Order: sequence, then structure tokens, then C-alpha cells
Amino acid sequence: MKILLVEDEPAIAAVVAQGLRQAQYLVETAEDGREGLRRALEEQFSLIVLDLMLPGLDGLEVCRGLRERRRTTPILMLTARDAVPDRVRGLETGADDYLPKPFEFPELLARVGALLRRDRIHKSRRIRVADMEIDTATRRVTRGGQEIALTPREYSLLEALAGREGQTLTRELIQEQIWMDEDSFSNTVDVYVGSLRRKIDAGRPQRLIQTVHGVGYRLVAPEEAR
Ligand code: CA
Repeated sequence: MKILLVEDEPAIAAVVAQGLRQAQYLVETAEDGREGLRRALEEQFSLIVLDLMLPGLDGLEVCRGLRERRRTTPILMLTARDAVPDRVRGLETGADDYLPKPFEFPELLARVGALLRRDRIHKSRRIRVADMEIDTATRRVTRGGQEIALTPREYSLLEALAGREGQTLTRELIQEQIWMDEDSFSNTVDVYVGSLRRKIDAGRPQRLIQTVHGVGYRLVAPEEAR
């Protein structure tokens, strides 16, 4: 699998590229946003690791440029630590996940693995995360083989979270793009996540739904949670 790394800081680019190559990925690098966008449009990559602060075009512009041209390649955005507005903007622009700098390489590797796995799962009709299985054709949900009854709104929330495993969904995105609902208050999302958690996670050793403080929610298999 081939990964494009767009990063202008040589020390970080070298560490990340070397680590990914050791993990058996093919890695190509670009040092500025313009070159990154050009390469991403011309070649086929399994995933793009994209720094936010770049000369030429910044990460948000690169991301937008790809999504506007309907390129769905998963994007992991590298952001500044604790810059919540940057993360939200990145996700809204079409990044699939973000990782604040400075990060430990194993965390980047775990995020890359989760995004690639999610991308493969998303292309099939059956979504499996840990012992949970969703049949998107019949909208049937089971955990440990036990069927779980959900309301239509809970189901669409769960399918969106599980279908984008590891990716943080903002409350706004859930409200506007998944429920197609602009009128309700944003705390409605929190209410439905609460009821979904009671059905999916309560009383089980492995919790799948995580709160990403200040941003939204994500669903992740426990072995990939840190
Ligand atoms: Ca940078």
C-alpha cells in the first residue's frame, strides 16, 4: 500500500517516512502543499498523511482541493496541539482523522492502520467492529451475536460512526449531513449518543463509542483505542 506524506519539516518527514517503510508501507513524500496536491491528483495512494501548516497551499486547501475533485483517499491531518478549531475545520474540510503534534510514531501508525481498515470495511456491506456487526442492507445490529433494537435515528448515527471507524464526527456533521436535520438543537446529538451508548456499550467490558472532547464522537475497536 502506498502512502503520500506531505510534510515540510525535514526531521519529522524523515522519522515518519522511515517508520512507515519499516511497517512495510511504500512512502512517497512532498515538501509543500502545491506539490502534495499535484501528486495526490496524479497518482493513486491508499492514504495521505497531510501536515496542516505547509508552504504553498496549507493542509486545509490541499484537503479541499482533493474533495472538490471527488478524491476519497483517506486523509490523516497533522495539527497543532490543542488547536480544537483547526481539528474541527480539518474534519469539516474532509480530513478523516487528525493527530496533534507532537505525537509518538506508534500513535500515527495506529491511526494509519485504523483508517486503511475502515476504508476497506466501508466498501463492503457488513461492518464489523470488535464483536459488533452491522448489516447495512437489513439495518440489523448485533453485539456478541445478540440483536440490538435501535430507533432509525440511533441506527443512522451508529452506521455513520462505525462506517468511519476511528474518525471523529463533529456534532454539526452528524446533525446536518447524517440526519439532514438543521432545526434541532446541537445537544440533541449528545442525547442520542447517550441512548445509543446505553444500548451498545452499557454493561460490556469493551466500550466502542468514545467522546472526543470539544469536537464530537468516534467509534473505535478497543484494541486500537489508546
Ligand atoms: Ca509544517
